[in-house]
Amino acid sequence: MSFCTNLGCLHPQNPDTSQFCASCGKPLLLKDRYRSLHQIGRGGFGRTFLAVDEHLPNKSKCVIKQLCYPATGENLRRVVQLFRQEAVHLNELQHRQIPQLLAHFEQEQQFYLVEELIPGQSLAQEFQEKGVFSATEIWQVLKDLLPVLQFVHSRQLIHRDIKPGNIMRRYPGQDLVLIDFGVAKQITATAFLHTGTTIGSPEYMSPEQTRGKAVPASDLYSLGVTCIYLLTGISPFDLFDVTSDRWAWRDYLPGGHGVSPHLGEILDKLLQNALSQRYQSATEVLQAINSDPQPARKKPVNTLISETGVDYHQLRDLLAGKKWQQADQVTWAVMCQALSKPVGSYLFSSEFQRFPCEDLQIIDELWTKYSQGHFGFSMQRQIYENCDRDFGRFCAAVGWNIPHSTALTQKLTFHISAPTGHLPSHLWAGGTQLWRHIGALAARLATCYDVVEID
Ligand SMILES: [Zn+2]
Repeated sequence: MSFCTNLGCLHPQNPDTSQFCASCGKPLLLKDRYRSLHQIGRGGFGRTFLAVDEHLPNKSKCVIKQLCYPATGENLRRVVQLFRQEAVHLNELQHRQIPQLLAHFEQEQQFYLVEELIPGQSLAQEFQEKGVFSATEIWQVLKDLLPVLQFVHSRQLIHRDIKPGNIMRRYPGQDLVLIDFGVAKQITATAFLHTGTTIGSPEYMSPEQTRGKAVPASDLYSLGVTCIYLLTGISPFDLFDVTSDRWAWRDYLPGGHGVSPHLGEILDKLLQNALSQRYQSATEVLQAINSDPQPARKKPVNTLISETGVDYHQLRDLLAGKKWQQADQVTWAVMCQALSKPVGSYLFSSEFQRFPCEDLQIIDELWTKYSQGHFGFSMQRQIYENCDRDFGRFCAAVGWNIPHSTALTQKLTFHISAPTGHLPSHLWAGGTQLWRHIGALAARLATCYDVVEID
C-alpha cells in the first residue's frame, strides 16, 4: 500500500506502485524518494508514517515524521528557522542508541523528518506484555540510557519527552534506543505559542519543564519517573502523593520485589522536585551508580576478619561461587561466632542489641555484593520496611511460605531466581517468635548503619 500524506486527502490509500494519489492527485513519493506505507502515529506535533526509501536497492524501511503547523507570517518564519536549526542539531546526534536522521525537507508547505527505523518494542509495549520490571532490570535501564543522555546533553540538546513509549529495545541486540526527540514538538509548540501547547508527557514531566523551562536535569527527572512506573505499574499521577508532596513509589512495590537502598537513593534523587536537590547531570548519576553502595552511610568492608576474630573467607568464597545453600549454613555459623556462641546455637531477638556492627555489615555486604543486591540483610530490612513491618506480608514478599514454621519445615529456594530477599534464610532464629527476631535484626542493622554515619 501507498499512503498519501496530504493532510486534506479523503482517500489516502493507494496501490503500491502508484506515483500520484488517485483521490487528491498529489505525488505519493516525498522528495521523489520516500513512499509512505501507513500511518503509525499521530500526536500534537503531527503524524508519523512507516515508509520505504525507494532509492535504496533493498528499499529499506524508515520512519517519516510530518510536522503540522498552522503558522503564517512572522510566526511561520520563526518555525522554519527553528526547524532548520533543529534538523542540524538532530543530525549531529550520531549515536548507536539514537535513530539516525536520514533527511529533512519541506514539501507542499509541510516539514518532514526522515529517520532510521528501529526494529523492536518500546518499554511501554514490553511492560504490557510482561508486567512490572525487577530492580535488576531497572539498573540495566539506567546503565543503558544514562550514557545516551550524557551524549545528548553534551551537545546542548534536551530530549524533553522521556517515557516508556519513547525507549525502544532493539531487536536483535536488546540495546535500548531513545526515540522521538521533543524537537518536532518544540517547533509545533512555537507555532502554537499563544495556545499554551506543552511539549512532553505531563505524567513524566519535571516541575520546571511544566513551567516551560526544560534543562538537562529535566530529562533525568523523566527517567526517574519512567523507572518508578516500570517498577510498580502504577500511573505516575497516582504515585505522587500530593498531600505530602513526595513520590510514594515504595508503597506500591509488588510483593517479592524489593529495591536496594542504593537504587532507592538514586531514584529518589532523580525524582527531586527542586533542581538544586536533583542530580545535575547524567555523569553525576553514573558516578553514583558506580560508587560503592551507600558510601556516606557505611565504611567499605576491607577486611574479611572482623575485630571479634570471625573469619569470613569461607563465606566470601561460597557466595562468590554461588553456593547459596552452603553459604546460608555458614552465615548461621558466623553469626554464632560473632556473638561468641557455639556454632549451631539458635539466636534470639534480645541478643541482637549486642551484635557487633562490623560483623553484621560484613555478612550483609558479602551477600549483597555476590547476589548483586538480590539477597542480604539490607534487602530484607528494606522489604520489611516496605511492608510496614507486617511480618506476614514480609514473609509473602521474600517467599518464606509459612510465617510460623521452623527452619526445618521451611522450603527454601537456593537459587538466584528466588524472590528478592529470600536469603539468608532464618535458619538461625530460635523459638517460635520468628517475627520478633527478624524485627530485632532489622532494627540492629538500621542502628549499625546509622552509627557508622555519625562517625
Ligand atoms: Zn491524496
